[in-house]
Amino acid sequence: MDTKAFRRSLQQSQTYHRKGFGHEEEVANVMNSAYQSSLIQEIRENNYRMKRGNVTIQMAESFGFCWGVERAVAMAYETRQHFPTENIWITNEIIHNPSVNQHLKEMKVEFIPVENGNKDFSVVDAGDVVILPAFGASVQEMQTLNEKGCKIVDTTCPWVSKVWNSVEKHKKRDYTSIIHGKYNHEETVATSSFADKYLVVLNYKEAEYVSNYILNGGDRQEFLAKFVRAYSEGFDPDQDLKQIGIANQTTMLKSETEQIGKLLEHTMIKKYGPDQLNNHFQSFNTICDATQERQDAMIDILDQPLDLMVVIGGFNSSNTTHLQEMSVEKGILSYHIDCAERILADNQIEHKPLGKSLEIQENWLPQGEILVGITSGASTPDKVVEEVIEKIFSQKLSLV
Ligand code: SF4
Repeated sequence: MDTKAFRRSLQQSQTYHRKGFGHEEEVANVMNSAYQSSLIQEIRENNYRMKRGNVTIQMAESFGFCWGVERAVAMAYETRQHFPTENIWITNEIIHNPSVNQHLKEMKVEFIPVENGNKDFSVVDAGDVVILPAFGASVQEMQTLNEKGCKIVDTTCPWVSKVWNSVEKHKKRDYTSIIHGKYNHEETVATSSFADKYLVVLNYKEAEYVSNYILNGGDRQEFLAKFVRAYSEGFDPDQDLKQIGIANQTTMLKSETEQIGKLLEHTMIKKYGPDQLNNHFQSFNTICDATQERQDAMIDILDQPLDLMVVIGGFNSSNTTHLQEMSVEKGILSYHIDCAERILADNQIEHKPLGKSLEIQENWLPQGEILVGITSGASTPDKVVEEVIEKIFSQKLSLV
């Protein structure tokens, strides 16, 4: 399928919208009261610090809602205003944040139901409005919705579209896209749907395996079993790793994406010689600014003498999980929670340790003076961060 031509023709269609509907001001007011926080504003103005009693809160200098998420949420609100009576659907959580998704549900914006892991588009009728979330939708989903005669409101972040454009460029030269991401994350599913041949690598270790295979060959069956579900149909590691291009899920650890890019570039230089690099390797910088800034701010805050760190964001949010990963790697006691309600009575917290299920920690706030680091993922409203901070202050006060 010529995905580029399809996207172009979809974008020219009367039923496709990727800009707002002129209700920006009204929506900005609603969003401010729903998501903004005066406490967080005060902390920002106070050099990202606030002390109450024997607790000092140190916020990361970049955190929370990114531009792409704010835009997607605003467009979803505008969509309801613009189509007050139509059925409105979203192909997936608009962003990975429970409170935002709850607000949308209250506005009667419904999620496409999922049956046995597959979305059931039979609920959508011609004329219904369907919103595509910030991390995009697969080209097959867009095609289905278009054929059904739906109105499509596309909130895909331009940074995500930029990755899709890179993948189109790989395809044009018959390159295999090596995508740094999680093969079943919606954004990567969407990105890979634009590729002809692709392989998704989760981390540097997997990229090293691929590099080694390119340089020395190996067991083809083992390769295919190792990456099962993470490559395009018919992918053959013996044939399809001769010309490769790099792409990424925008919310991965940017340092790792860079390392993987460098590793594979060096691999191709070793294999084919420096003068042949341009015939075997393609890479464009597609790490989104917001992810980069939040991760850089995390590096800075982790250098401070923190007693503990609290990372706030949806449990299925990739960028939040990476912030938690950075904290854990630095050896800092870190709690990943999605909302203030996870802070329970009697100095307990229900949190999600990296790679594990939720668990409850007793006596989570230590005695005496403490310095608590706080950050939040790109899909977390400031209001949620405020609620967490207020709860930390009041719980600590009650321990005195
Ligand atoms: S994290 Fe980056 S790519 Fe994702 S929505 Fe925000 S700005 Fe866009």
